[in-house]
Amino acid sequence: MAVAQLNEYAQRERAVLTYEDVGSVGLDHIKTFTVRAVVNGKPYPDGVGKTKKEAKLNAAAKALSVLSKGTIDPTEKTAEASPAPAHQTGITQANYTCWLNEYSHQERVAIRAVETTRLGPTGATQCCRFVVGDKEYPAATGRTKKDAKEEAAKLVHQEICGSNTTEAADKDQNTGNSLNETSIESRFTSDFVPMECLGSGGFGSVYKAKHKLLEKNFAVKIVCCEETSLREAGTLSDLLHPNIVRYYTSWMEDSGYQGDSESTESSAGYSSLPTSTNSSAKHLYIQLELCDTKTLKEWIEEKNTESLQDSRRREEGLSIAQQIVSGVEYIHYKKHIHRDLKPDNILFGLGGEVKIGDFGLVTRDDDDDALIDRTKDCGTESYMAPEQNKKNYDRKVDIFALGLIFLEIFWKVSTGHERDVVLRDARRQNLPKDFLWTFPKESQIMKLMLREKPEERPEASEVQAELEKTFNAHNEHQRNATV
Ligand code: ATP
Ligand code: MG
Repeated sequence: MAVAQLNEYAQRERAVLTYEDVGSVGLDHIKTFTVRAVVNGKPYPDGVGKTKKEAKLNAAAKALSVLSKGTIDPTEKTAEASPAPAHQTGITQANYTCWLNEYSHQERVAIRAVETTRLGPTGATQCCRFVVGDKEYPAATGRTKKDAKEEAAKLVHQEICGSNTTEAADKDQNTGNSLNETSIESRFTSDFVPMECLGSGGFGSVYKAKHKLLEKNFAVKIVCCEETSLREAGTLSDLLHPNIVRYYTSWMEDSGYQGDSESTESSAGYSSLPTSTNSSAKHLYIQLELCDTKTLKEWIEEKNTESLQDSRRREEGLSIAQQIVSGVEYIHYKKHIHRDLKPDNILFGLGGEVKIGDFGLVTRDDDDDALIDRTKDCGTESYMAPEQNKKNYDRKVDIFALGLIFLEIFWKVSTGHERDVVLRDARRQNLPKDFLWTFPKESQIMKLMLREKPEERPEASEVQAELEKTFNAHNEHQRNATV
């Protein structure tokens, strides 16, 4: 096709195009041919190939590449000429796609383009990968089907001819980075600029990342793709509530992502340089709304260091508790059980509103099938309802955890040991004595929430109604006090 393009160019420019047969070297079975394109008497760099046709194709591609730059280096001789990228030749027809067609023809190998459309919050992205013979090549994306196809053909070209194309060399010079497969293949690094690791552990990691097109920051949670992680994404996609971390989209990739921990470039102590993990496991990428780095755990810790058990904590605490229970009510209404409610999984949106996160242990709570056999030992021990390490339990396990969280929100403790004692006693329905008279209304609800028998615990909607009454009474009291 490069030959056809050069013909087209010559016709358009009314130039005289000829090809010179420079010769051939080597024994019959390893012979190489050299052909050169001459335009208006000007010779262009030699094209070399295993056949005359291939040499001519490479000569045409070489000429196109030089013509597109408007310069000619008569000393330049290239043994492995390759078609120039479309944006360099200024010719609208896609060059790598043409090269691939030509290659398939010459090598008598079948090619097949596998095209898909991916829908995301930013609209549709086109994906394409080639299967050449029986070898599958990496997928590429683009705004249009044609762009995606051209990018995918480029990946094939890089693997077959080596990645030392003119463009790759240009890119190296411009960015100091080598054009590696990951940067092309990974949807994460092609759509986002990873910025900061927000959390990592056995589960995987969460990155703050800027969406290149939208110029907006998101949190992207990357986990090994297992049944539970798919359940997390599936559940989140079912939930839309102001007090639940918003889900945007998810996708799978062949590898995970690790920031370069060696890098010292960033003042924040993290790196934005992408490297791929070698793990062969599939990874699930979940794009979420970005929340504050401060979770409810830090809020509680901050309040515990303040000198007084003040009314501000109570006021803020009531608002936080109401928002959490509003989110939990919605989760239960949608027939899910969170199963891992704890202060580190309660985040704050960038506007300060509560956002329940981490649906890694979520499960279904179907009324018809209430008290089904669930996987035992889920959740974080100190917040786990007593029945949660047995076989059968339902959504009321979330209410028990909420009771303990509310206690931590309202009640100041000074040491870790004191906290452990207060939580341990609360699990047996013993709330601190001072708490009972400082927070009479709140403690009434909480005692019910911490009942050993799940059926005696209130529903989230009942807790919400009680908290609302308490909140209104508190506000009324404050208003009267200031009059
Ligand atoms: P861990 O066992 O450490 O809690 P996990 O599997 O429970 O990990 P998450 O709780 O979802 O995973 O995320 C881990 C951490 O990443 C959170 O504690 C929080 O600091 C951060 N994080 C998660 N989601 C977001 C988000 N949407 N915005 C900002 N930070 C987030
Ligand atoms: Mg968590």
